[in-house]
Amino acid sequence: MTDTKPLDGRVALVTGASRGIGYAIAKLLAAQGAHVIATARTQGGLEELDDEIQAAGGACTLVPLDLQSPDGIEKLADIIADRWGKLDALVVNAGVLGLITPTAQLSSKVWNEVLAVNLIAPARFIRAFEPLLKQSDAGRAVFTTSGVGSRRAKAFWGAYGASKAGLDILVQSWANELADSSVRANLVNPGTVRTRMRATAAPGEDPLSLPHPDEIAPVFASLCLPGETRNGEIIDAQG
Ligand code: NAP
Repeated sequence: MTDTKPLDGRVALVTGASRGIGYAIAKLLAAQGAHVIATARTQGGLEELDDEIQAAGGACTLVPLDLQSPDGIEKLADIIADRWGKLDALVVNAGVLGLITPTAQLSSKVWNEVLAVNLIAPARFIRAFEPLLKQSDAGRAVFTTSGVGSRRAKAFWGAYGASKAGLDILVQSWANELADSSVRANLVNPGTVRTRMRATAAPGEDPLSLPHPDEIAPVFASLCLPGETRNGEIIDAQG
């Protein structure tokens, strides 16, 4: 007799899956039975994830993709439409920090990357994937925000904070539009987590004092379950 898992038969897409929080989410969704479509730029990180998922008996499809490419997100939606005809869970987690610096010194180059990855890419995911989420019986979308964003402005974090504040409003606006559908969309603020991004943001901090991404991933996974009813919320993973 085989055990049933909460995400058996479901298809989940995770961005930023090559390391950090996205890697942990992808691994957990696969362990819960989902076929995971894992995307990021770094092929080596994706392959390591694939090895781990397969070793645990799960299934994964790797899609190396730069979210700043002009039509990569839209092409990915077309491929998923052709192969599965639906998407059950969309986890838009990839993000960049940009520079922690006086706001008046932020260059256009930094602004362009931070807004493209943290805000415009999620908006493009919403546009490209809403029809596929609506083809699922219970499409679930989860976006990774930050404590620095719509609820808190922090000195020197202007570009990152503005991008996450924009993300909060983007997702909450969309969630309000989804109220009468079977799709649900929420945001998770992971809190400070032991990843490369956090080590860059706070180089003096002892990484071992922070939770591992595997400790945070269950909050994301619970929002991918068909029975999940929350919509338009910002959930603090560390309370
Ligand atoms: P991380 O270890 O730096 O991982 C970031 C992920 O985003 C990587 O997989 C990276 O993949 C992907 N990514 C970045 N730019 C990309 C691009 N242009 N195209 C495709 N993928 C791209 O950071 P993390 O801490 O896990 O961050 C995950 C999310 O959590 C982010 O949204 C971040 O803002 C948020 N967050 C983190 C913390 C924390 O303490 N760690 C706190 C609050 C919020 P490649 O480089 O391989 O492309």
